[in-house]
Amino acid sequence: MSDQEARVVAQVDKRLFIGGTWRDAASGNAFEVEDPSTREVLCEVADAGKEDALDALDAAHRAQADWMRTAPRDRGEILYRGYELLMERREDLAVLMTLEMGKPLAEARGEIAYAAEFLRWFSEEAVRIEGGFSTSPDGKSRFLVMRQAVGPCMLITPWNFPMAMGTRKIGPAIAAGCTMILKPAHQTPLSALALAGILSEAGLPEGVLSVIPTTDPGSVTEPLLSDGRIRKVSFTGSTAVGRKLLEQSAGQVLRTSMELGGNAPFLVFDDADMDAAVDGAMLAKMRNIGEACTAANRIYAQAGIAEEFAERLSRRMGALRLGRGVDEGVDVGPLIDDKARDKVQGLVDDAVGKGARVLVGGGPGDGPGHFYKPTVLADVPFEAELSTTEIFGPVAPVLPFETEDEVLRAANDTEYGLVSYVYTRDLNRALRVSENLETGMVGLNQGVVSNPAAPFGGVKHSGLGREGGRVGIDEFLETKYVGIGGI
Ligand code: NAP
Repeated sequence: MSDQEARVVAQVDKRLFIGGTWRDAASGNAFEVEDPSTREVLCEVADAGKEDALDALDAAHRAQADWMRTAPRDRGEILYRGYELLMERREDLAVLMTLEMGKPLAEARGEIAYAAEFLRWFSEEAVRIEGGFSTSPDGKSRFLVMRQAVGPCMLITPWNFPMAMGTRKIGPAIAAGCTMILKPAHQTPLSALALAGILSEAGLPEGVLSVIPTTDPGSVTEPLLSDGRIRKVSFTGSTAVGRKLLEQSAGQVLRTSMELGGNAPFLVFDDADMDAAVDGAMLAKMRNIGEACTAANRIYAQAGIAEEFAERLSRRMGALRLGRGVDEGVDVGPLIDDKARDKVQGLVDDAVGKGARVLVGGGPGDGPGHFYKPTVLADVPFEAELSTTEIFGPVAPVLPFETEDEVLRAANDTEYGLVSYVYTRDLNRALRVSENLETGMVGLNQGVVSNPAAPFGGVKHSGLGREGGRVGIDEFLETKYVGIGGI
């Protein structure tokens, strides 16, 4: 580790943050956090257990009543200060994130800004929580509709966007007046702990946010979800774990928000602007080393342009520099662990076994980290396993298609429905295809859909609810109606 890297790791408190206090785990246990590009141990972090989780719940429950009565402007000001602090410390936070997660520094800087924007957006939404007043159709009573904080929330986040997945939940929860317990992924607890420190410095009262990293997520979250004092769970992660949490949420009939897996189709029609489509595919595929729920998983190119498109894409992919994310000039970092790399290799081998051609890449990169070379596969048959499985790595399979009907059928032939991308210059086709794609979001002639001001979320097995946009705060609010008679 360089001096700067050692300094940013040393700055973070590695203990649990519970009820406004930093403390060790009740068990005294700690776990190691690794740099996925070197496999070096960066530090040890306190490992929360059930007892710590219940302490965090006590704190959240105690703080809830006062917190929901604070002035919305005050909640907004805390969020705004949090936004400013994240931006002031962007460089150190980006290095920290790259060390624990592996993404190139430029992308980590981008994520800190993206994460900060959720705090700014929801600082503005905190003061716009509106209800309603109306007269019943028979004129005999009045309807007063008010919106109130749901109550203490359990927030569970993945490793791929260690800061933004936190602020995307914490921002609206604070704005709405909810208290919360955040359980970050065990691979990337440092960004979440740094965020807790920043929000505390921004003025967040004790108990409103607790952060409890753990290596045993089930034993920490299950007792909280079954307790009755938690009123909502907001989860981002795999569909398999999401399903499990939905089952656990049934006992206490919890409100749930689920941002789950994806399998994004990327459609390039033969009338598309080819330069824009290649640029868009690079973004949709390679953002975050391909480890994004929004990553283009299946690139369908119309037969007349499929070959040229695949070749141009492979030239761009072949020019990317693989390496340690903190080093200058690196475009692609390592995958999160060996399991992820083995999965990617298995999917490539399966596609090649079924007739796909490797245009570039196709195997692991050099060095001790979990590197995988940027890869383009041409002539991938629809029945290849990666058509139905989330790749989560830097592999771009190009699948040729003939007609709009055929590609729509293929695009929708998946349990997932998070996002799809369409490149065409035909306005009628653009709208028709957008309407017919079974996804919660569509990138029309653009390769990125994530934006704090837009409603992010999926349909089918990609999830429930939306994060960001005007509706993001709704996930943390209950609607109460008061019927007024005798007027
Ligand atoms: P994951 O294995 O589902 O883990 C996500 C989080 O759930 C982690 O904090 C994990 O803790 C925790 N967890 C695991 N098992 C649990 C259990 N039994 N009870 C409670 N919590 C549990 O997913 P991942 O591999 O980290 O993330 C990749 C997945 O997230 C992909 O499928 C991706 O598409 C999806 N994702 C979706 C979105 C979206 O907005 N739709 C955004 C980003 C990522 P540990 O780390 O300790 O295992």
